[in-house]
Amino acid sequence: MSAMNRQILLAARPEGAIEPDTWEHRSVPVEKPGPGSFVGRTRVISLDPAMRGWLDDRPSYLPPVRIGEVMRAASVVEVIDSEHPDFRPGDHVVGVFGAQEYVISDGAGATKVDTSLASPSTYLGALGIPGMTAYFGLLDVGALQDGETVVVSGAAGAVGTMVGQIAKVKGCRVVGIAGGPDKCALLTDELGFDAAIDYRADDVEQALRTLAPNGIDVYFDNVGGDILDAALRRLAMRARVVICGAISQYNDPTRVKGPSNYMSLLVRRARMEGFVVFDYADRYAQAAEEIAGWIGAGRIKIKEHVVEGSVDDFPDTLQMLFRGENVGKLVLQLV
Ligand code: NAP
Repeated sequence: MSAMNRQILLAARPEGAIEPDTWEHRSVPVEKPGPGSFVGRTRVISLDPAMRGWLDDRPSYLPPVRIGEVMRAASVVEVIDSEHPDFRPGDHVVGVFGAQEYVISDGAGATKVDTSLASPSTYLGALGIPGMTAYFGLLDVGALQDGETVVVSGAAGAVGTMVGQIAKVKGCRVVGIAGGPDKCALLTDELGFDAAIDYRADDVEQALRTLAPNGIDVYFDNVGGDILDAALRRLAMRARVVICGAISQYNDPTRVKGPSNYMSLLVRRARMEGFVVFDYADRYAQAAEEIAGWIGAGRIKIKEHVVEGSVDDFPDTLQMLFRGENVGKLVLQLV
């Protein structure tokens, strides 16, 4: 009997928060690879806030996941059978292979990774999309200058931990905003941030007044909503506001709370700019090499939150992002 492929499919579009009936769990037989393709067995699946947006039927930078389609997800798979000249059994490959236990791929968009240099999960985190997002968002979009004051929200997450640490490599003063005392302690005690603000307990605007007394040069926003508004009030002259994400708004896409303090962009001669990391794909290799160098030199610490389980744990694991239960890059490792 052939092996069965356990898959998570989109069953219904959520109205607000993702509910269990959003998903269908099913098993189908694993097929043999045809000429020019390979079969990979999933090792780790990436969980990303953007997944919530991919479930909505509205224009975005990627088409929505279709009803009945395997949920879109990046993962690292191990090749177990191959008719493809470039991929051999035992190879580890990163790509957008979906929330499923096995994938058949023709190799399009698939990149071999060396698991003797870094773990599979790190190719989804510090050396993957979150690391690239932090690197290009901060250095290109944010046009960071040495010694500036950087504030990052969602600071204890996959992107945020990298933003703060890259800014420290660049000799900046870094203030992180995160939920809860434990995450704030991690930022200052382990990751080298200069200060942290617990947005659940503190008055963010007041804390920014104290911790960034000369104003914010680069505000890297991962959360949107009230925290973005508070940061806008504290901009330095010619500040750059990097719109990376807005997780506080993702579950209510029809009533997104826009910034009311945007006039400070005028007063401070500042700019606010969004970006999609995919636009930097031709520079990923160079960025990954530089980040790997910083990791190797002990200047950047990898933070990963690895949940062990099966593909069926994908829906519950995804919810952890929206409840703030992850520290660093959240992945589901199949065991
Ligand atoms: P993450 O930060 O590892 O995880 C999400 C975190 O968001 C949670 O741990 C939680 O931390 C925080 N959060 C959840 N609900 C919140 C709320 N209502 N208010 C404030 N904070 C909330 O996720 P990530 O993968 O690094 O992604 C961070 C952001 O980058 C997301 O907005 C994502 O969409 C965006 N992104 C953008 C690009 C791009 O190309 N522009 C690429 C990748 C990611 P707390 O405990 O601190 O609340």
